[in-house]
Formats: sequence, structure tokens, C-alpha cells
Amino acid sequence: MTAVADHLDLTQLGVLLRQRYDETAAQLRTETEAEAAWLRHIHDQGPGDSADAGNAVSETAEHGLVTAALQEQLNRLGDALTRLGEGTLGTCDRCGEPVPPGRLEVMPWATHCVPCQSRVDRRR
Ligand SMILES: [Zn+2]
Repeated sequence: MTAVADHLDLTQLGVLLRQRYDETAAQLRTETEAEAAWLRHIHDQGPGDSADAGNAVSETAEHGLVTAALQEQLNRLGDALTRLGEGTLGTCDRCGEPVPPGRLEVMPWATHCVPCQSRVDRRR
């Protein structure tokens, strides 16, 4: 582990974000294709016996969960890139204080500093 810089390197973070965004978009494409292929496969096969149908339902649900998670991740990364473009990335939405660079390294899409995030979480 390298020491966390006091000052956030936005250029570096931008590169990281763009890289993660592209990776996630590629994963989402792969997973969407796998899901579509799977759905075609079930469709072609027609209704099997009930055990098969049960497996098919759970596997379909699993595909759905994976694509939904990737889509959510992609949205977050997209938001972070927008915020980077606007110059608001790394600033807490609630108190306007800088979000610690260490936090942004782990969660580049973080929109709140740690104390504000815990307050926001408690309100939910
Ligand atoms: Zn804050």
C-alpha cells in the first residue's frame, strides 16, 4: 500500500474511473449477451419437467441480478464521471467539505464525506 495523498489527484482518478467504466460496460455487454442466449435457450427448449423449470427460473433470476448489479455500478461510475466533468467530484454533497482521497480511491462515486454518509444512511 502506498501512502494516501492529502491532495486528490483528479486526473489520476479520472483515468481510473474511465477504465472501470469501460470494464464494467464490457462486462455488462457480455452478461447481457449471456442472458439473451440463456433466454433463447429456454425458449427453444420449451417447458421441461418441473425440476428443470425450477432451475431455469432460478438461473434466469441469477442472470437478472448480475446484469442489474452491473448496470447499477455503471450508473454510479457514469455519475462520478459527470461529477468529475462538473468539478464537483470529491466534494461532499451535504456539507461541501472535501471527501477524503482514501475514500474516493475505494468508492470513486462517493458523494458524501464519511460523517455525512453515516447520517444519510441512518435516515434511510
Ligand atoms: Zn459531508
